[in-house]
Amino acid sequence: MRKKRSEKQKLSKDAYKKAKSFLVFLKPYWWIYTIGFIFLVASSSVSVALPMLLGKLLGMDKSNIDINWDFGGTDTIYGILTLLAVLLPGQAIFSFFRIYLFSIVTQNTLRDLRKKAFEKLIKSPISYFDQSKVGELTSRIATDTNMVQETLSTTIAELFRQVFIVIVALFLIIRTSPSLALTMLGVIPVAAISAMLFGKFIKKLSRSAQDEAAGSNNILEEALTGIKSLKAYTNEIFEIKKYNGAVQKIRNISLKAAVWRGAFVGFILTIMFGAIVFIIWRGIELVKLGPEAGGIANEDFFQFIMLTVMLGVSIGSVPDLIGKIQNSIGATENLMNIIQNENELDEENISAPVQKMKGELSFDNVHFSYPSRKEVEVLKGISFQVKAGEQLAIVGGSGSGKSTIANLLLQFYPVANGDIQYDGKSSSEYDLIQIRKNIAFVPQEVFLLGGTIEENIQYGMESATKEDIQLAAQKANALEFIEGFPDGFNTVVGDRGIQLSGGQRQRIAIARAILRDPAILILDEATSALDSESEALVQEALEKLMKGRTSVVIAHRLSTIKNADKIIVLENGEIVETGTHQELLQSANGRYQQLATLQQN
Ligand code: ADP
Ligand code: MG
Repeated sequence: MRKKRSEKQKLSKDAYKKAKSFLVFLKPYWWIYTIGFIFLVASSSVSVALPMLLGKLLGMDKSNIDINWDFGGTDTIYGILTLLAVLLPGQAIFSFFRIYLFSIVTQNTLRDLRKKAFEKLIKSPISYFDQSKVGELTSRIATDTNMVQETLSTTIAELFRQVFIVIVALFLIIRTSPSLALTMLGVIPVAAISAMLFGKFIKKLSRSAQDEAAGSNNILEEALTGIKSLKAYTNEIFEIKKYNGAVQKIRNISLKAAVWRGAFVGFILTIMFGAIVFIIWRGIELVKLGPEAGGIANEDFFQFIMLTVMLGVSIGSVPDLIGKIQNSIGATENLMNIIQNENELDEENISAPVQKMKGELSFDNVHFSYPSRKEVEVLKGISFQVKAGEQLAIVGGSGSGKSTIANLLLQFYPVANGDIQYDGKSSSEYDLIQIRKNIAFVPQEVFLLGGTIEENIQYGMESATKEDIQLAAQKANALEFIEGFPDGFNTVVGDRGIQLSGGQRQRIAIARAILRDPAILILDEATSALDSESEALVQEALEKLMKGRTSVVIAHRLSTIKNADKIIVLENGEIVETGTHQELLQSANGRYQQLATLQQN
């Protein structure tokens, strides 16, 4: 189940540390951000000046207005209007640059962040992906970067602006009339705090509605992803019932939240307007008293009201903004966790040329447990040797550890106990990249990228020419079906293109391997998911591919490994028999013989 994003995150010290390390991404652009802040201060200042000027305008003694144009400072109506005519476009320009500059910083930072996160993910060891689900990782990166984007471009500016307004407005209010300010400060915070508490409660309710909605989405997603099995087992009614139950629950919770939200709005309106009425009443009394008798001037009173309204709005928006920033500190923690992942690859070595191996392989008493399940020993002292150019076959029941041997040959996991050698040298003496560059791997289920057939064959071999690719396809028994497509090698495959059959995908993977021309070939049940016709085609292509190189063939059907130089039979992570096909068949009651008998029927 996906982590619920809507929950407000409890932030640990570690989170703040991680968020701090995030500042590294901002650093190159800090000066743009600073200029943006200057514009922000300017536009916020105008925001505070506006209610002052409007208050003055409203509070002016209108019986005395000088209707001639007279720019005599802020004590005349035209003076104020002129000032406003300058300030309003000024504010527009300030805001424009503030937004634009902040966006530059945000987009630059996000680009760097996305690049780095992808790079780190790709370079993470396989064990990392055993522990984190791919769907979870991708959705996490997407939501987290969105949150960071919003915070950098809007939330921080908004919070700064509101706090600026609160401070300046408070100062001006107190300066205008300390006694009225005191009254106001006695009323507004009480109203604001009770509103906040009420709001929190309602948020909790709507959060559980969101969680329910997420749950129902899971049902939907699972049903649609597994639509074939669902239909095959005529499970429609069951799924429909499950989904109906879930959506009904969403409706009920949402309505409950709606009742409280309605009450909340009513409450807020009453208390807020009540407070305003009270202040206006007190204000009128003070105006009546007049400045000389300890009251206030009419203009000041209007300014006071305008500033108070602004203050109320600003104070009200602060908690929400702080919450948003806290959430995005949590989001940067997630992102930084990805970015601070361990790398398994060294930067410079990736593009280094291949140092071709001869292809000798050996396992020397290898014990292995997966990092995600340390307590289970999957391989218990495996030893074998393969000479360059020979074929080793591995057979055994499912779960006996065959694929694990392939994983270790590819150096997907480090081996703590025992040694794996290539050309007589321990794996630790090689660079990881060099080992992998010498190996081609054909798994049971071939994954093709969304792209053309040509790109898929060329995969990772930028130097290959069109002729090389054609030749490889031909050797892989793939040329015929590829040329059968109207677009030939330019046929797009994958989600947005043509769906290839298992056998066709397999032959593309074989063409890919032929193009690489590796010293070592690993086939993990490469034909076992195929029907017998395409199996024959794939098998023939594989035979060609194996010629002249070391191959490790994990086989399901024994008929495919009759000619192997050596066969090892694996059971529960141990080698129980070794020999050629003929030798193993002769050992009476052997495990291999049993498998062979089973497959004849
Ligand atoms: P085989 O290929 O012979 O069917 P595997 O080598 O895939 O068997 O698996 C051997 C054992 O290791 C099984 O018990 C399996 O559950 C376990 N295993 C395989 N992959 C992982 C993994 N990534 N994390 C933890 N355990 C695993
Ligand atoms: Mg397997």
